[in-house]
Amino acid sequence: MSNKLLLHTCCAPCLSSVEEQLRAGYSLDIFWYNPNIYPEHEYERRLSELKRFQEIIDKPLIIHEATNDLEEWTAVTIDFARDPEGQRRCRECISFRLKKTAEFAKNNNYNIFTTTLTVSPHKNSKMVNMIGEKISQELDIPFLQADFKKNNGYLRSVELAKYYGFYRQDYCGCIYSMNESIARALAKEKRAQSLPTSAAASASSAATEASAAARRG
Ligand code: SF4
Repeated sequence: MSNKLLLHTCCAPCLSSVEEQLRAGYSLDIFWYNPNIYPEHEYERRLSELKRFQEIIDKPLIIHEATNDLEEWTAVTIDFARDPEGQRRCRECISFRLKKTAEFAKNNNYNIFTTTLTVSPHKNSKMVNMIGEKISQELDIPFLQADFKKNNGYLRSVELAKYYGFYRQDYCGCIYSMNESIARALAKEKRAQSLPTSAAASASSAATEASAAARRG
């Protein structure tokens, strides 16, 4: 069996480590399909960083976009808008993006598909793999199950992002996760302000450090 793999990719930092892990075993093409990312300037920034990295590693990049993508994505996630990250909204969002990846892979003679999503410590690999496997069976194309964060995969992505100077986002991507991230930052700030002055200063600095450490992708 040939090893032509279509790799759904959410951002350059996540791709960096996953590409390293897969490069020896597969001939891979990068597949960008992320209509979930909001707002537009964030979408453009992540895509621009991905293009910069794609030139460095010299792998084909397929940018998949259609005018009604955002409407379709909203339709499948809107009922779960208030769910916390990691629950039903994410299941629908990941399923939506992986289905498009699998369809493209099937129609363009790839042997297998997968995603960089499991490199993130914020993503439940079991859930991602279950979604991928279900789509694989529906469309009859193999899915590569993985947990790319293991064996220091996530730490390596942080290291490579630093090395290449990649932009690293501090929320997953959609408007809901952006609002959650803003709410978390405001709550931290409020807690810091309610403390006595010296404790507030150290809490504020701890909040800044925690925020930097929690950067996504
Ligand atoms: S938090 Fe991330 S995975 Fe979940 S719905 Fe938003 S963009 Fe999709």
